[in-house]
Amino acid sequence: MPLPEYKVVVMGGGGVGKSALTVRFVHSMFVEKYDPTIEDSYRRNLTVDGITVALEVLDTAGTEQFMSLSTLYMRSGDGFLLVFSLTATESLAELHSIREQIQRIKEASLPVGAQTQRTPIVLVGNKLDLVHERQVARDAAVQLSRSWGGVPYYETSARKEINVTEIFEDVVRQMIKADHAT
Ligand code: GDP
Ligand code: MG
Repeated sequence: MPLPEYKVVVMGGGGVGKSALTVRFVHSMFVEKYDPTIEDSYRRNLTVDGITVALEVLDTAGTEQFMSLSTLYMRSGDGFLLVFSLTATESLAELHSIREQIQRIKEASLPVGAQTQRTPIVLVGNKLDLVHERQVARDAAVQLSRSWGGVPYYETSARKEINVTEIFEDVVRQMIKADHAT
């Protein structure tokens, strides 16, 4: 039997570590300097709670000239990692509009009556290892995750490999659940 396929879209401001997290997850290494304009998708299988799924991870670069392109990404995504940097306060604020857009687009594509079904999202505060440059308190992020209806929140380090697999496992778990709900 073919594996169930899911697409995860990694979004967030420039420089927060979207590519570093993606490459760490897919290739188990840390890239110091990754071309910020590269937008690519990667494939990896992942087993969560005994279920193996084929994951496609789209690492976005935020270079979309036209809104329609990000709309396309959002429509095609089954789940989303919304990443900010713990070292940049404004990167957390940037996620508001991204999340609103996702809600709008995903809800519009749901069958009538299923509008309350929630889109699989994980909120990710990256660069946890840069302790002395930290600007965002855990509470601020937890508050945001609550205001989004209690989406899971993780603090990660792509550099030190902290919670990287965990964020993908969490979104996969949510996507499997959403799949079974329909
Ligand atoms: P993107 O624009 O969101 O894809 O960000 P990148 O993945 O290109 O990362 C931007 C910069 O932050 C690069 O210099 C990375 O080396 C650095 N970076 C990414 N993740 C981490 C991390 O967890 N810890 C530290 N110390 N630096 C990181
Ligand atoms: Mg990048």
